[in-house]
Amino acid sequence: GARTRNVVKMMRERLSDSLLAILKSAGEVADTFGFGAYVVGGFVRDMFLCRSNEDVDIVVEGSGIAFAREFARIHNARVHTYEKFGTAVVILPDGFKIDVVTARMEYYRFPADLPTVEMSSIKLDLYRRDFTINTLAIRLNADRFGILIDFFAAQKDIKEKAIRILHNLSFVEDPTRVFRAIRFEQRFGFTIGKLTSGLIRNAVKMDFFKKLSGRRTFNELRHIFEEENPTPAIERMHDYDLLRIIHPDLRPDRKLIANFMAVKKVLAWHDLLFLDEAYLRWVVYFMVLIRQFDRETTRQICEKFAMSPRHQVIFCKDRFLADRCLFYLGRNIPLKNSILYRELSAFRAELLLYMMAVTRSRAIKKGISQYFTHLRHITTSVKGRDLKAMGIEPGPVYREILDAILDARLNGKLRSRDDEINFVRAYVA
Ligand code: ATP
Repeated sequence: GARTRNVVKMMRERLSDSLLAILKSAGEVADTFGFGAYVVGGFVRDMFLCRSNEDVDIVVEGSGIAFAREFARIHNARVHTYEKFGTAVVILPDGFKIDVVTARMEYYRFPADLPTVEMSSIKLDLYRRDFTINTLAIRLNADRFGILIDFFAAQKDIKEKAIRILHNLSFVEDPTRVFRAIRFEQRFGFTIGKLTSGLIRNAVKMDFFKKLSGRRTFNELRHIFEEENPTPAIERMHDYDLLRIIHPDLRPDRKLIANFMAVKKVLAWHDLLFLDEAYLRWVVYFMVLIRQFDRETTRQICEKFAMSPRHQVIFCKDRFLADRCLFYLGRNIPLKNSILYRELSAFRAELLLYMMAVTRSRAIKKGISQYFTHLRHITTSVKGRDLKAMGIEPGPVYREILDAILDARLNGKLRSRDDEINFVRAYVA
């Protein structure tokens, strides 16, 4: 049986009032149908770890779809249902999202020819999850609101800071859990349990990953590079000989680790200054990770992981252009603003951040940061129509003049619109 205890007090202390109200309301809606309802998984885990988590997952014993529709109706929310899976997403008017799944009553069929086991539906739902720390559930129905259900000793593993799978066939069932184990271990500063660790080594030895699609494998890898600090996870992957899934020659040597640390610093700098400018963290890390490989090897890696054409262009083309650009900039120190602008304006944020991280030249790093904070926003005040008004015959010369104005502006030679107009007069004369 499960260990239960009342955690209402913890919920009141650690969750916002509005979140608490949403959970209470979910329990009341479930009551009107006679369904059981639980908030489960990462959300509960993070509440225990005092980490904020906005991903609310609700498991309903009954019909998750009927529950979600009614909950949405009451809250004026939108709802998307996926009948085939018995799942739904509710989107509240303020944008807050709630995932709903149905716990079906059924038998758990082990992989291989082991006997099936009968379980209560919530227990079965939790049994399918990756690690014990993700199996906590809190009852939401009014009469038992706030009762914590712990079937698999999750509280003990959270206390012991251990990542443990639920049964020995877990990695057979889903080898991507190996990457998830490493990701959670590093994120929380936990340790993968002894038995779980042995099963990971076995999964690597038996190459369970070969039956996985490249896309699924990469999807989990990508999550690792989205973490706050992916460096220790890379070292851990090396411990388990997992880096060979990316390429057999990949090693976390001093240079790679130094570059990873540099990326972390550069991204922190960027996020502090440009909070609202979105970019893909994993792209920057992955470019650094596979930097040692030539074009053809890089292409093979992209292919193996079935990357989208958009991402393939970044890794196979832009990355090499960025390295060439670094070389060029290195030969043009001290760097003029006009050169920085001309060379850097073709690159997207991920590439600029990559260049800042891997360059060993302070002057280049400073130049790129100057471009990022300042130069990229500079434009000329004089436009084509102004040239026309000045009586200059339209033609290719317009591009030439406007470029010359921009260069002069970037290099600090023109300060005002009048300066620009005088510059044009002198230029055509
Ligand atoms: P994150 O903070 O990274 O989102 P999370 O724990 O919320 O962490 P998700 O990947 O969003 O993780 O997954 C939500 C829940 O679904 C997890 O708590 C986990 O129990 C379960 N889950 C996800 N992937 C798997 C998997 N491959 N095998 C088993 N359970 C999984």
